[in-house]
Amino acid sequence: MEKILSSNDNFIEDVYDKVNVYHFHLVPMEFCIENIIFAGLVLSHGKPQINSILEPIVKNLKILELGITFNSRTERFINIKFFLLFAVFDKPARAMALNIKNSNGFFGCLKCLQPGKTLKTKKKGNVHVYFFSYYSNDGPERNSENYEKCLLRIKKLSLKEYKGIIGPCSLQNLGEFKPIQNTSIDSMHSICLGVIKSLFKYWFEMPDDKFSLKRHITKINDRVLKIRSIKSCQIALRPVSEWRYYKAKDFLIFMIYYAIPVFYQIMTYEYYQHLLQSIISLEILYSEKIDIVNLETARRMLINFVKKKDTLYNSFILKSSVHELLHQIKSSNRKD
Ligand SMILES: [Zn+2]
Repeated sequence: MEKILSSNDNFIEDVYDKVNVYHFHLVPMEFCIENIIFAGLVLSHGKPQINSILEPIVKNLKILELGITFNSRTERFINIKFFLLFAVFDKPARAMALNIKNSNGFFGCLKCLQPGKTLKTKKKGNVHVYFFSYYSNDGPERNSENYEKCLLRIKKLSLKEYKGIIGPCSLQNLGEFKPIQNTSIDSMHSICLGVIKSLFKYWFEMPDDKFSLKRHITKINDRVLKIRSIKSCQIALRPVSEWRYYKAKDFLIFMIYYAIPVFYQIMTYEYYQHLLQSIISLEILYSEKIDIVNLETARRMLINFVKKKDTLYNSFILKSSVHELLHQIKSSNRKD
């Protein structure tokens, strides 16, 4: 309990705040779907055992798949079946729930079979990265077919792991849920707290490098503080010198609403153009309705963004979150 509270105390406070707000101000509406929060709290010593959490959920979902019978105005009884179609987890939870390797290990990508490469840092640490593949930037695809083959091979040869798959997962027992295709990449952790936050580290923590913007921090702060309350974005950001206090949404807001005017003629042309490609892609991906033509534009821009990233910054920036950008378009355009 201590461990959970110490690592997630803000989250717990936040949930309680929201529960209180809903409870006291929206009592007549408390059963509207938008006012219902599904939440669970698991207490464990160390790493929680995900199966003890998922098994009862899967059991109930199996009952829902059989259907629930309601009284209907037009027909006497109507049977409605419910199926789990999509799931999203942060990366450590995803690895546990799907029984696959974590993204910082070989074959740790949820969506493809690229193994990645582990680099040694100067401080003798390890960073697992995915270099851009000119042969197939987002492939070979991991799909239901090769997922099943991996499971069969693991069972037949009693392997501990094969191509990133450790073993079967309880969610695959559900009727319509395909663990690989139907699990989405978690954009909050992967894009906001992954790709964008890592750029902030490179810009504002590394004073002597070619990509560093630390020497311009006063000018950048002035510009950030001058941008206030535009119609489409009512959130005013802290100065970037306080970026360590930014939440996931702040990083995204900075990229979409602030970065272009704030970095204009501060960032060198090459870096500015490179960043523009990611900003335009994010605007497309986060828009309420995505035009299929714009999705293709975003795809090409994200490929260019990832391709040039290690030459403009360095190889350590190519962590799984950057690699996952190459899978975002297909994930946004799935029909299965
Ligand atoms: Zn991949």
